[in-house]
Amino acid sequence: MRPLFYLNKYFLKYKLRLFLGLIFITASNLFAILPAQIIRIAFDVVGDTVTRYRLFNGFQIQEDYFAFMTQAIIIFGLIVFVMALIKGFFTFLNRQTIIVMSRLIEYDLKNDIFNHYQKLDLSFYKKNSTGDLMNRISEDVSRVRMYIGPAVMYTTNMVVVFILVVWAMLSVNVKLTLYVLLPLPFLSISIYYVSHIINVKSEKVQRQLSNISSFVQEAFSGIRVFKAYNIGAQRFEQFNQETEDYKKVNLELVKVNALFMPLMVLLIGLSTIMTIYIGGQLTIAGEITSGNIAEFVIYVNMLTWPVAVVGWVTSMVQRAAASQKRINEFLSIQPEIVSPTPVHTEIHGDIEFQNVNFTYPDSGTEALKNVSFKVKQGQSLAITGRTGAGKSTIAQLIARLYDADSGTILIDQKSIRKINLHDLRKKIGFVHQDVFLFSDTISNNIAFGSQVQDIDSNSIESAAKKAAIYDNIVKLNDGFETKIGERGVTLSGGQKQRISIARALITDPQILILDDSLSAVDTKTEDEILGHLNTFMENRTTIIISHRISSIKHCDQIIVLDQGEIVEKGTHEEILNQDGLYRLLHDQQLLENSEASL
Ligand code: ADP
Repeated sequence: MRPLFYLNKYFLKYKLRLFLGLIFITASNLFAILPAQIIRIAFDVVGDTVTRYRLFNGFQIQEDYFAFMTQAIIIFGLIVFVMALIKGFFTFLNRQTIIVMSRLIEYDLKNDIFNHYQKLDLSFYKKNSTGDLMNRISEDVSRVRMYIGPAVMYTTNMVVVFILVVWAMLSVNVKLTLYVLLPLPFLSISIYYVSHIINVKSEKVQRQLSNISSFVQEAFSGIRVFKAYNIGAQRFEQFNQETEDYKKVNLELVKVNALFMPLMVLLIGLSTIMTIYIGGQLTIAGEITSGNIAEFVIYVNMLTWPVAVVGWVTSMVQRAAASQKRINEFLSIQPEIVSPTPVHTEIHGDIEFQNVNFTYPDSGTEALKNVSFKVKQGQSLAITGRTGAGKSTIAQLIARLYDADSGTILIDQKSIRKINLHDLRKKIGFVHQDVFLFSDTISNNIAFGSQVQDIDSNSIESAAKKAAIYDNIVKLNDGFETKIGERGVTLSGGQKQRISIARALITDPQILILDDSLSAVDTKTEDEILGHLNTFMENRTTIIISHRISSIKHCDQIIVLDQGEIVEKGTHEEILNQDGLYRLLHDQQLLENSEASL
């Protein structure tokens, strides 16, 4: 239960609804108990009247008795009917308060989890799969809601019903009460076991269902490979197996589910039989009236559902506690990279690395070793080297997506750890290696980078022009309003890269990082983009990460990385003359280009 205590703050927030809910539950139960007593009175009145009616056989007064009896039955019937209406009204109100409260808490909890997710560092996302993150916010929260809503409602209902009904029963006859209550614990325990089995089996069904969904999702996203390799039949076979497993677990669940209602009906039936049998004996002995038996039968029916629910609620609470425990584990993780100060910092763009070392915490890969370099505002820095040399890692450290293990990173001569994180990231235009575009219009994809609400179309177009994508966009049927992504137009790799460059430029960055962002662009377009950037990036800092010598040779400074270390540093001419790795990469590319042009 302890993990669920976390939710108390939400109960406190919605205390008024909770309190009203409890009042409505009590009221609705009171109006359920009163009819039972009315029915007892009605039974007794009718019983008495029938006896007297027979006594007055052949007398005029017999007619009066008949009229009285009919009238009494109608009045009793009406009273019971009105009470049922009132009870129904209160049940409606109680659901409107408690179940609505549970939905509101579910909403708050989901928002809180999502908000917390957003604050967490990249390393958190490396450690946890997307599926896990999704499960916490959807499945686990739904299970927790079952505790906040139905479990709280049914438990309170059970306590109230139990107190009211048992008190009413005891005031009639203690012996009969005990006999009637006897089968109820068995009912509770068996329902607990059955619902536990149902839960285990439903989870299996859920798991298999998500297996099928991932399978199908993968099949559709990789449809080109499927078709090219002609493996449709083989994949269908696998799919068939998955659905076969799904069918099996579902049928098992159906079997257990089928047991649930008969078991309840049987145990309720036992209590009713007991009431009539023992009650009958007590009536013969003159201890209770036949009206009491009728009253008891109603009580038994009122008790059995709440008692049966105990078992169900117990397993519901257990599941909710397990889910909340998982949620709490995530919520208790604190981001390591936090903004050190709310004070705003202006970013100009001087960057300096002093003996920076960095090892990825999850994989233990030593990505940067003793890296030092300096780049001034208005200058351009190129980072090159083989794949896996640590180029992107430098970019990520500049945006403070990770913190260096040792050494210092200075931005405008100030330690990066002392700079307002929000301001720093706002002023960095980061074009990532793996381009991510949303399933939205081109214009929204570009505007996404901007912090300005309702950015005007001129700014979007101007960013697109700088990224040399404007002409391609206007040629599309819907221009900037063309939808891209899953259900939209498929763009080429180079076009996607240029859209994400436009997205970075629209933020008006003081530091622009292009992480291998020109790799899919032809050299002519590359020249065009670099030409635009030259003007745009005056007084700003540009960092270009690339294998392609053509992309970087005009940069003010080039650093060559090899296995996390800087092996060469200088301008294109300087390091070309060093006859090192840069020269090697340069000559290889020259050779490839000349072969390609043959
Ligand atoms: P480059 O950009 O030069 O190709 P990276 O900076 O991406 O190289 O990677 C440097 C090294 O760090 C590589 O060995 C790579 O496998 C590893 N690496 C990169 N990103 C991660 C990560 N998120 N978690 C663990 N290891 C990583």
